[in-house]
Amino acid sequence: MKTLVIIDVQNDFMPGGALAVPRGDEIVPIINKLQKHFDLVIATQDWHPENHSSFAENHPNGKEFEIIDLNGQAQVLWPVHCVQNTQGSELHPELQTSKIEAIFRKGTDHSVDSYSGFYDNAHIKSTGLAGYLREKGAKELYFCGLAADFCVFYSILDALEEGFSACLIEDATRAIDASKFDEAKNEILEKGGKIMHSEVIFE
Ligand SMILES: [Zn+2]
Repeated sequence: MKTLVIIDVQNDFMPGGALAVPRGDEIVPIINKLQKHFDLVIATQDWHPENHSSFAENHPNGKEFEIIDLNGQAQVLWPVHCVQNTQGSELHPELQTSKIEAIFRKGTDHSVDSYSGFYDNAHIKSTGLAGYLREKGAKELYFCGLAADFCVFYSILDALEEGFSACLIEDATRAIDASKFDEAKNEILEKGGKIMHSEVIFE
């Protein structure tokens, strides 16, 4: 079963948002067009409490985009973003949601960040996504959304590790850092993932 996994298409990751991904809004019409080509569509949502440890302002002298050690994990300190029940954490208003069967929220534990839709960054707590997909019979996963070099990338790595086939739809994602995205794409390919353009799916 072909499944589309839409990662974090939320207002705060759009141009003008708290943690804007350059040209992030350009992917919304592509994702809308993609949805009807899939048997199952699910989404993830970054969903932080105000006291989340990934926010620079929650660390004394914390600077945005600085990397610190957080309980043994390298952690980028982000601007405050995707706080639960705020306009910034809502899905982009133009994203079609009628085909999205389930939304998996992540980053709800204040003490650990969660880039992947499957696990937190320490790989301790699962969101239940892998079990849900197995029960649905989903084997071929296609990923889109934001940001390519963080949440989309780590979701793909976890999907591969969980034994799913995983494909990145390259024009339906945007990166925070272009060179980091190049490294991410190489790692996806090395680990057995695929990368394709949406036109291949539309054909
Ligand atoms: Zn976050």
